[in-house]
Amino acid sequence: MARKETAKKKQPIVRTKPAGARAFSITKAPAPLPPQEATVILPKLPKNAPQLVRGFKDILSDDQKYWEVVRAEVRRMGDEYGFSRIDLPTVEDTSLFVRAVGKESDIVEKEMFSWVDRGDEKLSLRPEATAQIARAYLNHGMLALPQPVRLYYIGPMFRYERPQAGRHRQFHQFGFEVVGEAHPVLDAQLIIIAYNFFKKFGVETSIQINSIGTPESRKVYRTHLVNYYKTQKADLCDDCKQRLTKNPLRLLDCKNEKCQAIKEDAPQIVDFLDDESKNHFVKVLEYLDELGIPYNLNPYLVRGLDYYTKTVFEILPAGVEQKAQSALGGGGRYDNLIGMFSGRPVPAVGFAIGIERAIARMKETNYQPPALYTPEVFVAQLGDAAKRKCLKLFEELRADNIRVASSFSKDDLKNQLSIAAKLGVRYTLIMGQKELSEGTILLRDMDGGMQETIAFNKIAKELKKRLTV
Ligand code: AMP
Repeated sequence: MARKETAKKKQPIVRTKPAGARAFSITKAPAPLPPQEATVILPKLPKNAPQLVRGFKDILSDDQKYWEVVRAEVRRMGDEYGFSRIDLPTVEDTSLFVRAVGKESDIVEKEMFSWVDRGDEKLSLRPEATAQIARAYLNHGMLALPQPVRLYYIGPMFRYERPQAGRHRQFHQFGFEVVGEAHPVLDAQLIIIAYNFFKKFGVETSIQINSIGTPESRKVYRTHLVNYYKTQKADLCDDCKQRLTKNPLRLLDCKNEKCQAIKEDAPQIVDFLDDESKNHFVKVLEYLDELGIPYNLNPYLVRGLDYYTKTVFEILPAGVEQKAQSALGGGGRYDNLIGMFSGRPVPAVGFAIGIERAIARMKETNYQPPALYTPEVFVAQLGDAAKRKCLKLFEELRADNIRVASSFSKDDLKNQLSIAAKLGVRYTLIMGQKELSEGTILLRDMDGGMQETIAFNKIAKELKKRLTV
């Protein structure tokens, strides 16, 4: 079957005079026609043509402006909130995630890309980066730095999940982590950062927040939860029947309608919090109130990973709170994780945001990212000698920080002018045989179509002057 795609129609090649032979003076030249949209039938691909692996995606040129604007905002927030960037490898010892995220978690149990390498090492593609932050903090002696240590990362994560809308096997996250201090103001500031990220792009979010206390208080709660759910076992979905023995807190995450109804009467973790966790939570909420950050207390939010303590939160798109695969990000405190690796208590808190989902939401809310590159000057040429001279000129203008564009593989002037118009440049430089022999170049104002002859050796200076006004 032929594949249809929309593409730009090729401009007809129209030559009025032999290439390179045309003379120019100060004239009002006709404006080039804008290229037209057309449907192009692509040839059918052979059956054995290479295909993407399921759950993996290419990020095509049209989408790059969204990615760039996200990266730039992450960098800016990192600078302004005092975080330094850290780049972590995509491969780690499997045991890092087993110990940190938990043997019984969905991530470790079902979703890791793991293998044994030629040296019998058990390795995994990273499914998340908080465990790596803990490892890196210890490996690089960050304990000896002034605390807290503030780090941010951005990069690909890998989870062997069933691919569907909003769920890929390779996806990207950025995350902010504060390691080494337990103050609740840090939890609040991280939530503010996550909230502000979306606000910047006009994406309305709903912050869901809860406290899951310390492992001790959670243990008591878990017993009450299991006792309650045992009385409802017959009505639970198959997954939840398993969760009852394996990972009872995850019972609260189930999206099944019947299980949701059962959850309504389940005991709530807030009623089992120790005093310290309770006070910590109240403080976090007070700081959020102070800044007018809206949040929803969600007594059933537990997040599925072993390392969380006290504050946990999720960022959902406003208005679609109940939809699966809609969470834009999440995080929380992990006061015991680094201690588990080092024997020394090191409190920490962080969050991660999924970039694919963030961008999908930005598109849904019609956020328009700025163009990645807006050239100001197009260099057009006619004839081989002019092409060579212009190749050099192009490099000189670039070095002079003038934003240039060109299409040196094209010989036809009309074609080049239409590309220049499409790029929206202010000026096009045109060199043909006549200009070459006279040591001049034509400067065409793309707005009005006026053309002037300028001495070739003055063109960079002239452009600089005109581009600053
Ligand atoms: P988590 O720590 O699992 O809550 O992940 C944090 C964020 O990463 C989620 O809220 C999503 O935005 C994103 N995310 C997690 N898993 C996937 C996935 N398989 N595909 C796309 N995005 C994901």
